[in-house]
Amino acid sequence: MSRGKLIVIAAPSGTGKSTLISKLREDIPSLQFSVSCTTRGIRKGEVDGQHYHFISVEEFLKLREQNEFVEWAEVHSNFYGTKKSTLDEGLAMGKHLLFEIDVQGCDSLKEIYGDEAHVIFIEPPSVEILETRLRGRATDSTDVINIRLNNAKKELTRKDDFDYNIVNDNFEEAYAKLFKIVSGIVKGS
Ligand code: ADP
Ligand code: 5GP
Repeated sequence: MSRGKLIVIAAPSGTGKSTLISKLREDIPSLQFSVSCTTRGIRKGEVDGQHYHFISVEEFLKLREQNEFVEWAEVHSNFYGTKKSTLDEGLAMGKHLLFEIDVQGCDSLKEIYGDEAHVIFIEPPSVEILETRLRGRATDSTDVINIRLNNAKKELTRKDDFDYNIVNDNFEEAYAKLFKIVSGIVKGS
């Protein structure tokens, strides 16, 4: 059995990556979404075990101490991490794994998996539009939105370090580009 592909998508919070990825998962069912662990609170509409494994800080620190994470990061004052078991089992079974993680997580996976990790950065048309999307999503407090906007400015300085770049201005156009890139990677198997 050929080894699965490793597709990693990063974007500043509010850019639209979850919306893009959810459509991508419908259109390319062979993609297996890597469900991360997080200590952040569950949002309306999210399902434990499907969007994230929502765990306590204590549980997270225990898993980290037991070396269970292939990568982890503190993002917007919460912990997020990808379990080694999710990744290694998926790849060995020939699954194409899709990760939605932050820039630090992309760096870690690129360091471990090199060219095997295909990293895609999605950027907002502008920081102003990003702010409008974050406010429009209405899932976060003003303080949380401000933290996310500050982090976005830092993350945007890293956009040229990725294998692919997509601007999510017009949704349909951005989606068409993402679909083309990801289907190309999957077909290359
Ligand atoms: P992320 O997962 O990157 O944090 P979301 O997918 O939750 O972002 O999208 C943030 C908000 O922006 C949502 O309300 C979503 O409906 C909206 N959105 C996503 N893409 C676009 C787009 N191209 N144009 C306008 N609004 C968008
Ligand atoms: P959110 O709280 O909006 O779901 O995600 C916040 C940020 O954490 C996003 O940039 C998201 O991609 C990132 N993230 C989610 N899961 C992981 C993970 O397992 N590892 C890392 N490094 N970042 C993650």
